[in-house]
Amino acid sequence: MSATDQPSSPAAVPTPRPARSAATAAVAAGRPPREQGAPVNAPVVLSSTYVSAGVPGGENLYARYNTETWLPLEEAIGELEGAAHPALVFSSGMAAIDAVLRLATPGTAIVAPRHAYLATLTAANEQTAREGGVVREVDIADTDAVVAALTPAGEPPASMLWIESPTNPMLEVADIPALTAAARARGILTVVDNTFATPLGQRPLAWGADVVVHSVTKYLAGHSDVLLGAAVTDDGDLRTRIHARRTTGGAIAGPWEAWLALRGLRTLAVRVERSQASALELARRLAGHPLVVEVQHPGLPSHPQHARAAELMDGFGSILTLRPAGGADGADALTRAVRLWLPATSLGGVESSMERRRRLAGEAPTVPEDLLRLSVGIEDVEDLWADLDQALHAAARA
Ligand SMILES: *Cc1c(COP(=O)(O)O)cnc(C)c1O
Repeated sequence: MSATDQPSSPAAVPTPRPARSAATAAVAAGRPPREQGAPVNAPVVLSSTYVSAGVPGGENLYARYNTETWLPLEEAIGELEGAAHPALVFSSGMAAIDAVLRLATPGTAIVAPRHAYLATLTAANEQTAREGGVVREVDIADTDAVVAALTPAGEPPASMLWIESPTNPMLEVADIPALTAAARARGILTVVDNTFATPLGQRPLAWGADVVVHSVTKYLAGHSDVLLGAAVTDDGDLRTRIHARRTTGGAIAGPWEAWLALRGLRTLAVRVERSQASALELARRLAGHPLVVEVQHPGLPSHPQHARAAELMDGFGSILTLRPAGGADGADALTRAVRLWLPATSLGGVESSMERRRRLAGEAPTVPEDLLRLSVGIEDVEDLWADLDQALHAAARA
């Protein structure tokens, strides 16, 4: 890096914050200072560069390094995750994930869930192939198996443990505190993709995770109108390294996107409370539906890690999976028969959507062909149920 590529302020100074709940932080964090006549929302600043003469003294210098339009969102996400520093926002979840994966040591293993987000596994595999390392896939719900995969005899040791919980789309729930403790004892970095649970559901930094990443695209922004990502850490040195990667890689957020995401974030708590309650209600009803083969949701007692989810998480998330009668064709017919639910990939928006995951090339073969992933939004739960019920019957007739 040349001198001019250096970020003007490598790591933000931690500021003491009042203790307040995540729901409050989502609304109150990242506001402009309370001054007479000041706006209540942070302005969007469209400027690629800043006035700067002589040796820079920590002020904004160039908009690839730091901007005042990212900072309110970064402060809000940092506070939501209970971090000592503001988050770092990126142009997408994958941009954040790509930067954080580079914290792994070349030539080592990255241990990751076999049902991790697909592009995360692709990025990890590409990176380790370049650098002579490996990705070791594990069942993240099987704590003993994950710990055994950290330093197996005769294989490269891990330098990074990647955790998703609940996983996509199988909804396996990891014992994150046990896994971070095992990794830390071996000097291995733990990263948690907290997209599915959101900081309202769990705060992995408090359980000893080194870095938390988000696809802000999903629940945090919440309206399916913006792609954005974030990385959060308590460790100033790790933050500096992730920040340097963002500056050099250039995968930065646009100012409008950052502003939209913060606007979406303001309503995070009410959206998540509503969609979680509806997801649990729909999962219970679907479990008794004659045209349903299987339904999974961490809130159902039949879920293999229900007790763990109940102990660790606040709420069980807003995703459920459904295997309708009629196999993959039945599942495809269902996605054509729904009128309110949107047949679409992605998740975490105000609108409810569904997708048969195996229609996508590259989805893990351990995901059943007929499995639909449902992302429950904030519509009236009775309307969601009526649409599912009519679509299940229509699909059975098709
Ligand atoms: C969507 C998603 C990502 C990728 O985020 P983008 O914003 O699409 O780049 C990563 N992890 C999980 C769990 C996701 O759902």
